[in-house]
Amino acid sequence: MTARIAVFPGSFDPFTNGHLETVQRASHLFDEVIIAVMTNTSKQPLFQPAEKLALITAATKSLTNVRAVEQSNELTVDFARSQGAKFILRGIRNVKDFEYERDIAAMNQVQAPEIETIILLAPKRYAFLSSSLIKEVAKFGGDISTLVPANVMQALKQKFSQKEG
Ligand code: ADP
Repeated sequence: MTARIAVFPGSFDPFTNGHLETVQRASHLFDEVIIAVMTNTSKQPLFQPAEKLALITAATKSLTNVRAVEQSNELTVDFARSQGAKFILRGIRNVKDFEYERDIAAMNQVQAPEIETIILLAPKRYAFLSSSLIKEVAKFGGDISTLVPANVMQALKQKFSQKEG
């Protein structure tokens, strides 16, 4: 049987516990989950792709069928095809996410009808959590210890102390 491979694309700026839990749950559903760190978004990132990759790789190291790679200058469906992935994984927190993800999934289906988008609902305790909110709170020294992996918290502290200093 061919392996069931899912690509989880995102900006992950930074990777949060919401992302991590989505990946953990997906790791039971698929033979392999490839986290694709997208570098071609319009958002101005805080972390460089190599930093994101290192953080995600360390945060997911106990999940043996999960790996992170960089994805740039190509459509997610083309990247998925290149990896032999038949699934695109996304997460949704609320109705706003749903409407956004529904459009992306529909567009991806036009581009690649053989690839299925699988959407997991965010757990309630992380449903408010976004990378941008994390950056805002971290910038002003707020407590994010239950919301991001420990290595991400450390990296955020460093980023913001560098910026001040
Ligand atoms: P993008 O810029 O592609 O939306 P993100 O890194 O913000 O990248 O998110 C990647 C995926 O993870 C998206 O499908 C997003 O909806 C989902 N996601 C973001 N935050 C959470 C969360 N707290 N819980 C579950 N899924 C989330």
